[in-house]
Amino acid sequence: MAAESNSSLAGVFNARLPQREGRFRLSFSDGLLTSISPESSSSPSEGWIDAKGGLVTPPFVDPHFHLDSVHSIDETGENVSGTLLEGIALWKKYKTNLRPDQILERARTYCQEVQALGLQAIRSHVDVSYESLAGVEALIQLRDEFAGKIDIQLVAFPQDGFYRNPQGEALLLKALDTGIDVIGGIPHFERTYDEGSRSVDRICQIAADRGIRVDLHCDETDDGASHHVETLAAKTIQYGLTGRTAASHTTSLHSADDAWFAKLLPLLGEAGITIIPNPLINLTLQGRFDHYPKRRGITRIPELDSTGIPVALGQDCVRDPWYPLGTGNLLDVAHMTVHGSQMTGIDQMNRLLPMISSNGATAMGLKGYSLKENEPAHLLIFQESSFIELLRKRPRPTTIIRTGEEIEIRSQ
Ligand SMILES: [Zn+2]
Repeated sequence: MAAESNSSLAGVFNARLPQREGRFRLSFSDGLLTSISPESSSSPSEGWIDAKGGLVTPPFVDPHFHLDSVHSIDETGENVSGTLLEGIALWKKYKTNLRPDQILERARTYCQEVQALGLQAIRSHVDVSYESLAGVEALIQLRDEFAGKIDIQLVAFPQDGFYRNPQGEALLLKALDTGIDVIGGIPHFERTYDEGSRSVDRICQIAADRGIRVDLHCDETDDGASHHVETLAAKTIQYGLTGRTAASHTTSLHSADDAWFAKLLPLLGEAGITIIPNPLINLTLQGRFDHYPKRRGITRIPELDSTGIPVALGQDCVRDPWYPLGTGNLLDVAHMTVHGSQMTGIDQMNRLLPMISSNGATAMGLKGYSLKENEPAHLLIFQESSFIELLRKRPRPTTIIRTGEEIEIRSQ
């Protein structure tokens, strides 16, 4: 697949919008969405696209992915047990000889695939815990290649630990100096709980010094006593990072104490933290120590969302040592969330649209992913007329628009 953009459009007419009655016209000018008005009887002039009563949505945003390992399963060997630990072991063995050109080729293929699925923003973690930093070099080049097509934001991710790996902090700082956008961490993987807490403090301090965002792999465990997200919230406030931090996974919350969780909610709100669950991976990798009943492994999505804590859903992995499946279609992620988190109420299902679009964009500091006037005219047009139908069928968009131009996806 490859994408080409055409000349600028005047707008889209005859469109349905999520959870709004009637049909609408969306006008563009200079790449911006300038107005949204009820459909009128006058026929539009040249340069308008007829949505034919189909649903218009913002483009999809994946706020948690690993572009350095995507499609690597043919090279790493298969994860026979299907467990997190075997995945980590396979990746560790493989990455020592990894070349930037291998990563770039796999990641480029993936980005071309997901453009056709309506994805226009990806936050990717990059493993920075090995000497060559091959992923850093490859993905900075990829970010440049896709500039203006897909917003790619890179997170320096110390996969082997910030303190647990003796080179952890030095390599992470080197990656940031090279041009990585966001600082990551993995506190639940450090040697002790105390080291995990100290890593959160140091990481937030570095973020504040450099004026960058934070996105931790946080509490990705079944241990309900893993509370690093609480430390992240406190440090976010302490270092003046409010609204600029995210906690990915937080699967431990599914087993956390209810009284503690009740105290956590307002703290998360105060810190403006985005929670980024990855239900496809959480459902498959968590609960592995359980007999029956088995825990589902997903953080408390409906409870967080109904309290106003921003939740953004991620794909996490596609065809890598941790997950042999996956397409990058965020509608698959939302569909799985309906099941895994029992979000079958109509309002709950509709809440999944911001979780795969605008909430992730806000966490990344991007505009143009919420169909707002005077923001970039990025949008998708579907044949289906409601978001519930999108969840049911998980179709591709029929038309993809980026900064007011139609993107043509063609097969190579
Ligand atoms: Zn991840």
